[in-house]
Amino acid sequence: MVRSLSELKGYQIVGRHSAVKTCLWLKKSLKDEGYCYKQKFYGIASHRCLQMSPALICNLSCIHCWRPLDLMPPFMEWDDPEFIFEESVKAQHRLLSGFHGTEGVNRRKLEEAYRPNQVAISLIGEPTLYPEIDELVDIYRKRGFSTFLVTNGTNPDAVENVEPQQLYLSITAWNAESHRKLQSRDQWERIERTMDIMAEKNSRTVIRLTLMRGINLEPERFVRIVDRVQPDFIEAKAYMHLGHSRLRLERDTMPSHSQVRVFSENLAKLTGYRIRSESEISRVVLLER
Ligand code: SF4
Repeated sequence: MVRSLSELKGYQIVGRHSAVKTCLWLKKSLKDEGYCYKQKFYGIASHRCLQMSPALICNLSCIHCWRPLDLMPPFMEWDDPEFIFEESVKAQHRLLSGFHGTEGVNRRKLEEAYRPNQVAISLIGEPTLYPEIDELVDIYRKRGFSTFLVTNGTNPDAVENVEPQQLYLSITAWNAESHRKLQSRDQWERIERTMDIMAEKNSRTVIRLTLMRGINLEPERFVRIVDRVQPDFIEAKAYMHLGHSRLRLERDTMPSHSQVRVFSENLAKLTGYRIRSESEISRVVLLER
């Protein structure tokens, strides 16, 4: 069964194939109840972060993905990047308008939130499938946004052309065989090409490892990839037992923060990276080169 976009709860659909959603940490930050690990790691103000996707489609079927894997928007043509930019900001405003009556909201932060200055292009789907992703990132940058783009690495040509401030390669697999098993496709060669492009990139680069207990929690598996990409940062992050992934994985696949910490310490020893920061509540450790 192919699902329609109207089944996505809490999302503002933008045009034909994009969406915006306020994340949990924006809500918490507005109420002074905490902030996202990206604020701690990279200085991103959670309440001014616009989380969006320009492509509500994906070419992988990851076992850990929290989206429904049969989601397919009914569109025939791609929207213009300028339109996506303008409409994504309006969508963020519509989402924020719901906070005016909420008790405990910091009014100054709510006012600032109407002027987002950070875009996290990572919400759902694979953003590089939008053919004008390079142009879209440029538009956000020219309007004063810092730009974080997360890719699954299957579209090396797009990765070559795009210049976000921070470029993430999000992976769970360590070779072609594990890629087939964990992501149900045969695109490892393309992901390896992306790794080589990232090694030469001007953007700040990050490898995000989504860690699953009993599946990929062995640091030695990822040493070759780290050596190949030499990213500025590694984010070692626990898989979260959320959304549709609960239909595919057991709850105890989710490692504890201390397991992520041990993984990271061992990865640091094996690669020469060092632990720079961590967030226990998000079960993530940041390593830097
Ligand atoms: S690449 Fe991302 S969006 Fe696509 S299936 Fe995997 S986790 Fe989900």
